[in-house]
Amino acid sequence: ATPISVMVAVGRAAESGILIRKGEALQKAGEITCLVLDKTGTITEGKPTVASVHAIGNFTEDTILQLAASIESGSEHPLAASVLKAAADKNIALDKVEKFEAILGHGVTAVINKKVVYLGNKALMDKKSVRYDAHNSKLEQLSALGQTPMLLAIDNKIAGIVAVSDPIKQDSVQAVQHLRARGIRVIMVTGDNPITAQAIASLAGITEVKAQVLPQDKAAIIKTLQAQEIVGMVGDGVNDAPALVQADVGFAIGTGTDVAIESADVVILQGSLLKVSEAIDLSKATVKNIK
Ligand code: ADP
Ligand code: MG
Repeated sequence: ATPISVMVAVGRAAESGILIRKGEALQKAGEITCLVLDKTGTITEGKPTVASVHAIGNFTEDTILQLAASIESGSEHPLAASVLKAAADKNIALDKVEKFEAILGHGVTAVINKKVVYLGNKALMDKKSVRYDAHNSKLEQLSALGQTPMLLAIDNKIAGIVAVSDPIKQDSVQAVQHLRARGIRVIMVTGDNPITAQAIASLAGITEVKAQVLPQDKAAIIKTLQAQEIVGMVGDGVNDAPALVQADVGFAIGTGTDVAIESADVVILQGSLLKVSEAIDLSKATVKNIK
C-alpha cells in the first residue's frame, strides 16, 4: 500500500499546482543532482514575437514578411505563429504555397510563385548551400540580444532576415538561484543557435549551455549525463518528449504541448520554474517522513 505520507504529499503538491503523475517521482525528485532545462517555453515565455524584419537587396520588408508568413502557414512551430501574427497585424495577405516541407531543427522550405523559398537557421542554409557570410555580423548582433534570427532565401540567395524575440519568464532567475542553492547543476538545452542561447542563459543566470541540439539528440544528452548524475528534465515541447521520458524525473510545463505532458512524471500547472524546486523540497521532506 502507498504510505500515507506519500498520499499527503501528492495532495499537497496538487494544491500548489504540481501534479505528480507517477508516485516514484515524488521519491526520486529529491535525489536530482542535475537539472536540464529546455529554453523556449521553459526558461522563456514561449510566446515569440517578431522584433524586426530586414530586407536585403531590392526586396521590401513587406515582401519578406509576406513570404515568411506564407511559408510558415504550414508549420506548427512556435516561431511560425509569431511570423503569421506579424503579417496579420499588417494585413498582409498570404501567397499560395506548394511543396511545403518542415525540416526538424532547421526550418521550412516551399515553392511560392514559382520561387524556391527557404526560411530557417544557418544550418538550413548550409544544408541547401545558400551563402550567408555577408550577413554574419547582422545575425550575431541580433542573436546577442537574445533574439532568434531566421534567414529567408529566395532562389538560393538570402533576401531577408526575420528576428524573433522571446523574453525570459520573470521568475526564471529566481528559480535558477533556488536550484543552485540546493547544489543542483543546471544546464540549458536548445535547438537555437549558440549566441542566442548564451544570451538567454546569461539573463537567466545559467552558465552551462548546449545549443543547436537537434530534437532527437536531447534524450541522448540526458542519457550521457546519467552516467554521473541523477537527471531531471524540464520541457514543454513535442521535441522534449523523448528527453522527458529518458530523465530520472521528467517535468512538463503545463502550458506546453499534450505530448510533453503525457511523457512527464510531474506536471507544473502554472508554468513557473519555481515549482520545480518546490517539488524537490517536497520530495526530500516526504522521504524523510517515510524513513
Ligand atoms: P527549440 O524547440 O529548442 O527552440 P527547434 O529544434 O525546434 O528548437 O528549432 C531549432 C532552430 O531551427 C530554431 O531556433 C530555428 O532557427 C529553426 N527552425 C525550426 N523550425 C523552424 C520554422 N518553422 N521556421 C523557422 N525556423 C525554424
Ligand atoms: Mg520548449
